[in-house]
Amino acid sequence: MSVRLACSLLLILLSLPLNAWAQWFEGSENIMGTQVVVSLWSPSDAKGSAAVAGVMDIMRGVDNRLSPYKESSELAQLNARAFKAPVVLSTEMAFLYEQSQAMYALTDGAFDIAYASVGKLYNYREKKAPSKADIERLLPALNTAHLSFDNSAKTLQFLNADVAIDLGGIAKGYAVDLAITYLREQGIQNAYVSAGGDSRVLGDRGGRPWLIGIKNPRMQKDDDKETVITLPLEDVAVSTSGDYERFFIDSVSGQRIHHIINPKTGRSASEVMSVTIIGGEGVRTDPLSTAVFVLGVQKGINLVNKLQNYDAIIIDRAGQVHYSNGLMPPAS
Ligand code: ADP
Ligand code: MG
Repeated sequence: MSVRLACSLLLILLSLPLNAWAQWFEGSENIMGTQVVVSLWSPSDAKGSAAVAGVMDIMRGVDNRLSPYKESSELAQLNARAFKAPVVLSTEMAFLYEQSQAMYALTDGAFDIAYASVGKLYNYREKKAPSKADIERLLPALNTAHLSFDNSAKTLQFLNADVAIDLGGIAKGYAVDLAITYLREQGIQNAYVSAGGDSRVLGDRGGRPWLIGIKNPRMQKDDDKETVITLPLEDVAVSTSGDYERFFIDSVSGQRIHHIINPKTGRSASEVMSVTIIGGEGVRTDPLSTAVFVLGVQKGINLVNKLQNYDAIIIDRAGQVHYSNGLMPPAS
């Protein structure tokens, strides 16, 4: 090889970005009743594909353990057995139970896993909501006082036959955290993982922030914008709760019946259309977005303003956008 040719080859090599052989790996699967999406950067083909598959395995595992629809899941077993006698919780279930109760206390009961005592009667696919009589009968069961947790034995017992719990408001954020922890352990430094409205990003997206969109809660026509706000973010969790995710319109009342339940009434919360929470971990942003949805604009923003390192974007019933203090420009 001539010296000139060797020099040109060397120049070409040096001008390539250091990570020219690395690449983005993407994956998307239907798990936990939602779309799980992964995007990550890896220097190796084998490692990159294995990491995407590893995240999907983690998501399937969470679904198998926490789905209320799988009879064999720990959650379904708990609901079936905890009224008869105390049930010993797995470390994971005890962790999620304690996180949920901490959220209950923080949000004045707006986040309440016992919502399912009434919530179990909704079937959005079949457009079924409980009757007024059903709600009145079951609302007394929707009460945390009926959950008896023994902190040292890590057992849970239901003190009322009608109580049911559900972790749908925290499980996806938690699953996304598990995925990010796993990716870090695999040496991945740049990744995006989302499960429906719950996402978390690791590092940036090749020198630029990740762009996370907040959906238009009322897409009416095909040419309506799908994303109304885009957030440039790095190393955070973002959860959105929206009344457009799982809903139907009641044919008699014309009301939107959706999956975020006000524990005080046993009915869909109706003050806002969407709540986005930005913070460190999905296990907190997920239940917080559900709770702020229930609390509404004033109480919700006040709560988030009191918390360190959390921010909120709320789209109210009229389509007006409200931001927590941390997202407001500094006063000039
Ligand atoms: P998504 O499941 O679409 O991401 P959210 O994060 O807002 O939406 O969670 C809504 C889910 O949370 C519901 O599907 C239900 O499982 C559960 N949930 C609904 N209302 C409450 C509530 N008041 N407290 C705790 N969990 C709730
Ligand atoms: Mg949530």
